[in-house]
Amino acid sequence: MVSISIRQLTKRFGRSTVLHGVSVDIEEGELFFLLGPSGCGKTTLLRHIAGFYEPDEGQILFDDKDVTKLPVHQRGTGMMFQSYALWPHMTVAQNVAFGLEERKRPVAEIHQRVEEALEQVKLGGLGARKIQQLSGGQQQRVALARALVIHPNCLLLDEPLSNLDAKLRIEMRAEIRRICKAYGLTGIYVTHDRDEALSMADRLAIMDKGHIVQVGTPEEVYRNPATPMVAEFIGETNFIEGTVVQESSRPGLFNVETPMGVLRGRPSGKDWVPSARQPVLVSIRPEALSFQRLFDTPNRLPGKITGTTYLGAMVQYEIGLAGGQVVRVLEMNPERVRHVGEAGTELMVAMKDVVILRK
Ligand code: ATP
Repeated sequence: MVSISIRQLTKRFGRSTVLHGVSVDIEEGELFFLLGPSGCGKTTLLRHIAGFYEPDEGQILFDDKDVTKLPVHQRGTGMMFQSYALWPHMTVAQNVAFGLEERKRPVAEIHQRVEEALEQVKLGGLGARKIQQLSGGQQQRVALARALVIHPNCLLLDEPLSNLDAKLRIEMRAEIRRICKAYGLTGIYVTHDRDEALSMADRLAIMDKGHIVQVGTPEEVYRNPATPMVAEFIGETNFIEGTVVQESSRPGLFNVETPMGVLRGRPSGKDWVPSARQPVLVSIRPEALSFQRLFDTPNRLPGKITGTTYLGAMVQYEIGLAGGQVVRVLEMNPERVRHVGEAGTELMVAMKDVVILRK
């Protein structure tokens, strides 16, 4: 187990700066996610931690040891990538043994550790199989066994599940988390799939254009996004433009003038107090909008149903609001389906679910 500290890391490729003074601390035994849109620098940051890149500025510490210039094979990291990079003509055991052979371990030890690693990923007894004789999910497990066999102090995973179908992906999410926790591994996991991050991470960092925009638990980031980009990236949301009127009579809650009337909500983002007449974006998640009457909130939004998608467990609606804007609503466990054109619809939303963001 190891804690990892990234300090003011900057990386340039030619003229373009891909990481801008990135700092983050990852605790030992933590499963930490780097999440962000394509090209934001996630893989580049992970590759620095693995030792494939040296930064132009900044440091990487494993516990208190500076590893910034340490070569890959001396860092003790296990790695698993999107392209599993397995050798198709070799057996499962030969693929898994590679890291140990490279380290020149005795044959008997290699044999035992390979078998152990295969057991860990539930492939015990399949060592003699050829890679081509395995399913995609099994191949993914071989890649994981290969990362684990060296007894790494941390596991680095770069989009490890993106080649799998949806069902296997969900199964492997749980499996990877189970293994990290069972062996006390510090894990750093790169993805642009928010469901993967929300369902697996202890904490996550949202990256954008070479910066870390926010770090927190999945719940913190989902409920208290620091910026509109984070709010949108971490989940579905409805944005409504508005202008702050004033702090309401309830401390910490603000009134915002919008095209569909005044909404009362709470500011999100660290140490920010909105000022009167400040232009803001209001974020309301589809599941926070309710057709039921809610008490203790002044937020009412009259509208008309413009779209309905029935999914059994839930219904997704599009509602045209009085000011002309269309919002998405998610109703769980619906008793009846509302149809397009149905008028007289009124949505309500709790004050805590009206999240005011700095534009
Ligand atoms: P994705 O989700 O698409 O993999 P990412 O967030 O992992 O994206 P990176 O692969 O870290 O993004 O790339 C960040 C930026 O750096 C991109 O603009 C990319 O084109 C650029 N880049 C990455 N590697 C190199 C390289 N070796 N030389 C030049 N530019 C690079």
